[in-house]
Amino acid sequence: MTSILQQLIELSHWLGAEGRELAILGEGNTSALAEDGKTFYVKASGTRLMDIDESGFVQVDLAKTLHALDHAEETDEATQRALQESRVDPAERKMPSVETFLHAYLLSLPGIRFVGHTHPVAVNALLCSKRAEELIAGRLFPDEIVVCGIAPLWVPYTDPGLPLARELRRRVEAYVQEYGVLPKVILMQNHGLIAPAETPQKVIAATAMYVKTAKILLGTMAAGGPNFLAPHHVERIYTRPDEAYRQQIIAQMQSAREQNS
Ligand SMILES: [Zn+2]
Repeated sequence: MTSILQQLIELSHWLGAEGRELAILGEGNTSALAEDGKTFYVKASGTRLMDIDESGFVQVDLAKTLHALDHAEETDEATQRALQESRVDPAERKMPSVETFLHAYLLSLPGIRFVGHTHPVAVNALLCSKRAEELIAGRLFPDEIVVCGIAPLWVPYTDPGLPLARELRRRVEAYVQEYGVLPKVILMQNHGLIAPAETPQKVIAATAMYVKTAKILLGTMAAGGPNFLAPHHVERIYTRPDEAYRQQIIAQMQSAREQNS
């Protein structure tokens, strides 16, 4: 079987490939929970997705990173120290991406093993526009719902690093309370997209389908604006989780948080 790190490298190449317009230069980052379940691989800062290899990732300790997410001060020094101390190998010289904290949080959620974060041109055309939040409120076509879920999670622009990871955590928790499932697509205002999933294939599917959604949404602006699906049509495509499942996800998230605080 292909190792987790090899799967992560392949996912990164797919997301960073030239021509897909998802990330250029050092944009975007990826991560995956390691086989041990206690550590994860995350892109080192200053590396590129398109041609990254094993040496472009840093293995970090999940519990230590989550502890910093709970307790570290939001200063550059405290952030750097937390990132340095999170590294599994004391001889490691590369620094994990400054977005390591949000990767740690997402990888601590039930069923999430891979995270892909990109800055797609089409999605950012939307996320950098004045009406972004209003325009993502409705669903446009059936496959958007099947692949990207009942709604994307919206995160207002926040400073990268700890502040963004904390704001994202608050918003994921509120999303789970509202919908009873984890978001499949997270949209960060004036920044980019995150797809957390169980497999690399699902990260790719959610990313690609949301890029398509964004292109269609922008296309509708040339023809009078989006015609959102009626709620009863959305309901027919989307199977809402039952209350027991909702409570189970909430309980799992709470216990994961208590273990790490
Ligand atoms: Zn980014």
